[in-house]
Amino acid sequence: MTEQPNLETIVSLCKRRGFVFQASEIYGGLAGFYDYGPLGVELVNKLKAEWWRATVTDNDNIFGVDGAIIQNPKLWEASGHVAGFNDPMVEDLVTHKRYRADHLAGTDSTDLKELAQLLKDKQSPDGNNLSEPRYFNMMMQTFIGPVHDSNSVAYLRPETAGSIFTNFNNVRETMRAKLPFGIAQIGKAFRNEISPRDFIFRVRELEQMEMQYFIKPDQQADVYESWRQFAWSFLVDKLGIKEENLQWHEHDEKERAHYAAAAHDVYFKFPQGFKELWGTHNRTDYDLTNHQNFSGKDLTYYDEDTKDKYIPYVIESSVGVGRMFMAVLVNAYHEEQVNGETRVVLKLKPELAPYRVAVSPLLKNKPELVAKARQVYENLKTEFGSVMWDDNGNIGKRYRRQDEIGTPYCVTVDFDSLSDDSVTVRDRDTTEQKRVKISELVSNL
Ligand code: ATP
Repeated sequence: MTEQPNLETIVSLCKRRGFVFQASEIYGGLAGFYDYGPLGVELVNKLKAEWWRATVTDNDNIFGVDGAIIQNPKLWEASGHVAGFNDPMVEDLVTHKRYRADHLAGTDSTDLKELAQLLKDKQSPDGNNLSEPRYFNMMMQTFIGPVHDSNSVAYLRPETAGSIFTNFNNVRETMRAKLPFGIAQIGKAFRNEISPRDFIFRVRELEQMEMQYFIKPDQQADVYESWRQFAWSFLVDKLGIKEENLQWHEHDEKERAHYAAAAHDVYFKFPQGFKELWGTHNRTDYDLTNHQNFSGKDLTYYDEDTKDKYIPYVIESSVGVGRMFMAVLVNAYHEEQVNGETRVVLKLKPELAPYRVAVSPLLKNKPELVAKARQVYENLKTEFGSVMWDDNGNIGKRYRRQDEIGTPYCVTVDFDSLSDDSVTVRDRDTTEQKRVKISELVSNL
């Protein structure tokens, strides 16, 4: 078994096997944008389904929404994003390339004075002098309608949370929800990152899975703890992430987002080091208070039991689909020596593998084998959905290909199958093979 794969290994596997491609690759790509390929989209869908089930389906008091990407720009004024969604930036004074000042300085702080101090003797990666750090707003702008002026400016949402807050009353009323209750959403968000990098780790178009849990203010400590725990357990139990690849990171005051009173990230050991994967934030009553002030609409909650009226607090759980995808691949990637050859195997949980099983006829030019294998394939497809038909190359090549994409089982129909109605099932992790009756295949897999 090898150490963790490096970034190039993951990028190359993703391209070679159809997980992730550069967006508009034939035009040279576009920095910070990626397309998911046939296998990638299967894995993405499974990750989203797992999260949705654990967050929404399994909880009677958490409801889903799917908000518009473009909202009334006032929403982003109220949320503080128009004024405050900034990252510190420095510019190479010769090449004019721009960099995240905090990343170059190797700090979590985004304080301009502190960054200027840390960077005063530093040069750019190209060896040139740097500008003073300044803030750069990461909101992606567009225009609505035929006239492009300041009145038609709109923003692509920088996080999905916005339309959760603006739908607080709608969801509460339509679902007759009482505190505590949550609203969850999966969707695209856009950030004009200064230097997108590390493959799909830092991109300009991302997808988020977010849940805002509305509570009585005095419940904040306990609820915060339980959502923090939820993130960790989900990664370990549902996705099979090894605990040694995870770490807690608590934000200090300088690092915390403008809305948060407390923030803990789960860091994952990405190829470039331990980095943020999943954030839990105590957003207090910051958002609903601001939306109430900016919209003039009453967003208070009337507690029928205590007869109190107040603005709920919000505990937020927020994770990026792309970072989760990358963490799952890195965590599952193994290289093993088998009979003097290196085998690459993705040890994904069977529920997450793009294909649950692959079915092959031993030889593709023997119609009776192909017909029998097709029958097996159709049956398994009805049961598992994602089953691959693989009749390319010899059996050894097929196993290697399926190992590399994490298919837990390969089923091969051979000449004996025609008489004994059994097939060979090969296990991805142990590479062991056994004969199984076709009638017992489903229960065996
Ligand atoms: P970072 O500090 O890495 O920029 P953040 O603290 O700004 O991230 P949040 O605003 O808390 O991130 O967003 C919630 C989640 O969305 C993150 O934990 C991460 O998984 C994901 N995410 C944020 N920005 C990006 C990005 N540019 N590319 C990919 N995923 C991202």
